[in-house]
Order: sequence, then C-alpha cells, then structure tokens
Amino acid sequence: MYDVIIVGAGVAGFTAALFAARRGLKVLVIGKDLGGQANYTDLIENYPGLEQIGGLELVKKIRAQAQNYGAEFVISEVSKISAKGGNLPFFVVSAYGSQYKAQGLILAYGKTPRDLGVPGENELKGRGVSYCANCDAPLYKNKTVAVVGVGDIAADAALMLSKYAKKLYILSKTDKFNAHPALSKALFGKANVELVIWSQVQQILGENQVSGMKIQDLKTGKIRELAVEGIFVELGYVINSKIVQNVVELDEQEQIVVNADQSTSVPGMFAAGDATSSLYKQAVISAGEAATAALAAYDYLMRQKGGVGLTSDWTQIKKLK
Ligand SMILES: Cc1cc2nc3c(=O)[nH]c(=O)nc-3n(C[C@H](O)[C@H](O)[C@H](O)COP(=O)(O)OP(=O)(O)OC[C@H]3O[C@@H](n4cnc5c(N)ncnc54)[C@H](O)[C@@H]3O)c2cc1C
Repeated sequence: MYDVIIVGAGVAGFTAALFAARRGLKVLVIGKDLGGQANYTDLIENYPGLEQIGGLELVKKIRAQAQNYGAEFVISEVSKISAKGGNLPFFVVSAYGSQYKAQGLILAYGKTPRDLGVPGENELKGRGVSYCANCDAPLYKNKTVAVVGVGDIAADAALMLSKYAKKLYILSKTDKFNAHPALSKALFGKANVELVIWSQVQQILGENQVSGMKIQDLKTGKIRELAVEGIFVELGYVINSKIVQNVVELDEQEQIVVNADQSTSVPGMFAAGDATSSLYKQAVISAGEAATAALAAYDYLMRQKGGVGLTSDWTQIKKLK
C-alpha cells in the first residue's frame, strides 16, 4: 500500500514524486517509459535556471532528486484505474497484471503521438514505424523513408531526417505543406526531399520490418505502393485518457478537468501536466502543476487521517494583516 501512486514518468510525474516524497509520503511512480515527451525534445531553452538542457537529461535529474527522497519507480503501462470512493484506496493495474494500491493518486500521463490508424501500423511500431525523428533519424542513414504530416512538427522531423536519409518523401493529403515558410524553404531546397501531394496512407507493408506503404491518390482514387524502409508519423499529439474514462471528469478533448489545487472530480485523485485542462503545455508548467498536486495530495491524506493538513503560507499572511 502506497500513500500516493503517480501515473506517468515525465516532468510532471517525477516533480510530483519529488514534492510528495519530501513530505515523507510513500510514493510510487508508474510510467510507460522514462521521460515522456522530453524524449522528443532535443534541447529545452526556456526552463528557468537552466539556459539549455536536453529534455531527457532534465527528466533524469528530476527523477534522481525524487529517488533521493525515497520515491520508487516502475516501468509499466497502466491499463486500469479503479476508484471506489470514500476512504477506499485506489487500485492501479498494470498491463502485465500487477496491482498496486494507494490512498491518493496523481495522474500525470501527458500526451502521446497521434496514430495514423491504418493496418500494419501497430504490428510494425518500432520496426520501421516511428513517432520520433529526434530519437530514430540516425538509424535511417542512406535509407528511403517517408514522413506523414504537414505541420511544423512534421517539418522539424523531416529536416532532421533529410540529413541522414538517401531519399525522403513527405506525404500530404492536399497539394500544400503547411509548415512555417522558413522551415519549408530549408526543406524543399534539398535534393533528397520530395513532396507527394494528394496522398493518403492506406496500409503499412512489411513482415517483421517496414518494406513500404500503400498510398491512395485522393484526386484520382488510384492506389499504389511506395517502397520505404521507415515511416515517421508526425501528426501531432493526443491525450489518451482511456484508463480513467467514466472514472473522473474529462473535457471534450479528454483532458482531465482540474481545480486550482489540481484536484479532480474524484476526492483523493489529482492531476498535473499536459494531461490536464490547463491552457498551456510546457515543461515548467507541468512541473509547477505537479508540485501543487503533490502538496494538495499531502494535505488530503493528512486530513483523511484526522490531522490538520497543510496550511497555505498565503492564508497565514492574510491572517497576520
Ligand atoms: C517536440 C517537442 C518539443 C518541445 N519543446 C519544449 C520546450 O522547448 N520547452 C518546454 O517547456 N516544453 C517543450 N515541449 C513540451 C514539454 O515537453 C511538455 O510540456 C512536458 O514534457 C510534458 O510533461 P508531462 O510530464 O506533463 O507529460 P509527458 O511528457 O507526456 O509524460 C507523460 C508520461 O506518462 C506516461 N504514460 C502515458 N500513459 C501511460 C499509461 N497508461 N501508463 C503509464 N504511463 C503512461 C508516458 O509514457 C510518459 O512517461 C516540447 C514537446 C515536444 C513534443
């Protein structure tokens, strides 16, 4: 039995762990991976106090700080959360079937890359289908690859890939590429880059490794095969709140609705970071929300045990006036 379980091992998850563990709580962080979106971020230049830092390096530092205060960490995907209410604990079930229990819960599961949703994608994830050019581009040196997507995220990925790939196709469903003009200019000035317009991916091909894709020409309806060894899906990010559907209040974008103290519609359940309904999504904002969530969870647990909870400094200041 833990005091607090934190779902998500990104900036928010480990910051929440740091603040909760420093209050003496027994804390477990469960995350599908280490780092979350920080893995996709080569360099962060707007985290206060750190002029430049690699995304993953930042998360590793926060994790080390949390572990110094006793927070535990498990790599696993959470597949189910149940909240029976009242004083009953939360149950967190992992994809491997392990079950964990805690009196408080902090959801910090962030955002994940949007899938293409075509046959072959799931089977070939990590075998030629990638969602992170920053991580995987060097694996495609002198190979033929495709980027699916047309925004700034896709352009960033394509620029990175164009440095390694022999040939790079960029697939657009229209006759346009919607990225920032400066990015487009840099990209289409390169001899190995080709924009394939009016094209929609129908299927990803390959046995154990990507060998190509079926694409449909949206003008003529014709379907053809394009031989590629790698496919980078760059369609932006979505919040996947399946594990708490019908458990906690979500908005129409599946963001967890939070109050000013990061509490949710379920007593004892808090949320922080990119998965919440707060307007802006940045590392420092995730960290700030996570600190609030952890302190609010501590306050909740102390009151549940009949204690006085955590009095806010601000209340004290007002009383003194
Ligand atoms: C390309 C890119 C560049 C960026 N550049 C900057 C920048 O320069 N400056 C800046 O401040 N911000 C930047 N950001 C945004 C910043 O990275 C995010 O705001 C921040 O990392 C979000 O942290 P988080 O912990 O809330 O969520 P995430 O980083 O999304 O972490 C969520 C964690 O939860 C895990 N998870 C999800 N579902 C489950 C589940 N079911 N079970 C278990 N674990 C689960 C994930 O695997 C991950 O570990 C950038 C983002 C991207 C994508």
